[in-house]
Amino acid sequence: MPELGLVFFPAFDWMISPTHPERQERLLYTRDQLLEEGIFDLPQIREYRPRMAEIKDLERVHVGIPSIAKLIEQAHLVAAGGCLTAADAVMSGEVKRAFALVRPPGHHAMRIVYGIRGFCTINIEAIMVEYLRAKYGIKKIAIVDTDVHHGDGSQDIFYHDPDTLYISFHQDGRTLYPGTGFPNEAGSPAALGMNLNLPLLPGTGDEGVHRLFDGLIRPVLDEFKPEIIINSAGQDNHFSDPLASMNVTAQGYALLAAKLKADIAVLEGGYSVEAALPYVNTGIILAMAGLDYSRVIEPDQSSLHVQSANCNKRVEQLIDEVGQLWSNRKTLRKQALDKCGAQWQRNKNIYYDEEGISESQRETAHYCDNCGGYLTIETKASNTRFGNQNAYIVVLNRNTCSTCREEAMKLARKAKSSGSWNYVLIQDKIKSTVVNI
Ligand SMILES: [Zn+2]
Ligand SMILES: [Zn+2]
Repeated sequence: MPELGLVFFPAFDWMISPTHPERQERLLYTRDQLLEEGIFDLPQIREYRPRMAEIKDLERVHVGIPSIAKLIEQAHLVAAGGCLTAADAVMSGEVKRAFALVRPPGHHAMRIVYGIRGFCTINIEAIMVEYLRAKYGIKKIAIVDTDVHHGDGSQDIFYHDPDTLYISFHQDGRTLYPGTGFPNEAGSPAALGMNLNLPLLPGTGDEGVHRLFDGLIRPVLDEFKPEIIINSAGQDNHFSDPLASMNVTAQGYALLAAKLKADIAVLEGGYSVEAALPYVNTGIILAMAGLDYSRVIEPDQSSLHVQSANCNKRVEQLIDEVGQLWSNRKTLRKQALDKCGAQWQRNKNIYYDEEGISESQRETAHYCDNCGGYLTIETKASNTRFGNQNAYIVVLNRNTCSTCREEAMKLARKAKSSGSWNYVLIQDKIKSTVVNI
């Protein structure tokens, strides 16, 4: 059996604009490097063509306003479909692991979508997670996000889900987009401790990242025992990345991939198109395939520098602070649930940097003793492609009980009869649909 399934979709005809960092040439040099190294001919590697995802795959995760179909282009369906191809390759046992080298990326896309945020419209890892649940009945899933930016979309989507462990290390949000990703964003009361944010100081390199992995991420994963580990593989922690200020090398990334042993990796960011991506991607591919990656070295290491002592200090603080949060999660969860009662609410203001859309949102988690409950979301946005919009949304989970379903539908009908919403939408994860009532 080949060790690694490789889904390669460079989307050479998709871009936000010709000079945008998430642009057509992103995987051009990676492709040349993979061909030069003969990666596609190795017996340990099997190449797959991505398939197209269907709208129902997207609607298990997203509620698009006015609809997700109106907000995406074909490249999005292939990027998401490439992840589903990777998932099928692993689940069918054809390969041991898979790496979806696809674009456009996804980890800044939240549940509600009005347009493009942080280069992302749909969250391709989240779509794969819900697909793994719908098709293969997988419950416990861990996502380890190694992109330099906080994956605020993945955090948003799984914030109430006690079966999805989301771990992200990233450059501190006080110094980088999207500005979130601190340890106190740890999950809503029912899922407290399942969202672990590890903000690192600018300049942190291989040493700090590996200390964090060995001291915290590995032990947490070993305790959680996920059925599947997904790596949101952003390569923008690289020392040459033009959008960030970190100090990780191709060897650092490859060793991380070798230690993590993700079942499926999905490419996220990485904008050092020529100096980093070919080497980081090749290193990760070789490591995931169980092959020797020790000779994958960037030709130009002039901007690599020694990590400062402060970076190590921050890493040790995080191991301590987030380690305690993880160890005490069950007690903290009970305390939080006792305190909030039958409902928990959060208000969010979300800015879509690519399109200048401003959204304000109130999300309410409704708890139930017999099931995982349901969500209601009130959202308003200005300056969307379709003008000013608002919607009332009900999210029915896979395990929402019949009493909760009735209660949720009653709230939806009430919202409809109030006449104050452009859309009243029901997201039903079992039916994989979003319906406007
Ligand atoms: Zn990124
Ligand atoms: Zn219920």
